[in-house]
Amino acid sequence: MKRDEPRFLVDGMLGSLARWLRMLGYDVEYKSEWEDERLLKEAARSGRVLLTGDLELYRRASRKALRAYLVKVGDRDEALHKLSERFRLRLTLNPKLSRCPLCNTPLKPVGKREAEGKVPPSVLRRKRRFWICRNPGCGKIYWKGSHWDKIKDTLRKVSDRRG
Ligand SMILES: [Zn+2]
Repeated sequence: MKRDEPRFLVDGMLGSLARWLRMLGYDVEYKSEWEDERLLKEAARSGRVLLTGDLELYRRASRKALRAYLVKVGDRDEALHKLSERFRLRLTLNPKLSRCPLCNTPLKPVGKREAEGKVPPSVLRRKRRFWICRNPGCGKIYWKGSHWDKIKDTLRKVSDRRG
């Protein structure tokens, strides 16, 4: 992650957006149970940009001079497009930069040996490179499968949007 990249704090309604931003490599704090007060406090403490779908919360954040951005709920692709323009986000998937969508921890590349027993045998046979979440409490493992292709497709469509 580059030092000048925006870091985000995402409200409970925008979990899918939080996971996508993490996959793109952005540092995203997301706790579905956090209420407005907690989000405002955390935004003030951390300097993260608060992404919210709640107009009232957005207004409260703005009144406190916090960095906040109002997201239209229910259209993740639209939100990604708007965010990419507003914050100059890259919309390309690079596992060297990706963070674990579940826990926001950077990933580490591993080979077949480390992946053994953690992925289905058919995947182990076909793939040579894997990425594991560096958080030992999570340890989720990823590989470039059909899901990966779908994500790339979606990102391409989002990039091609205009306006
Ligand atoms: Zn993780």
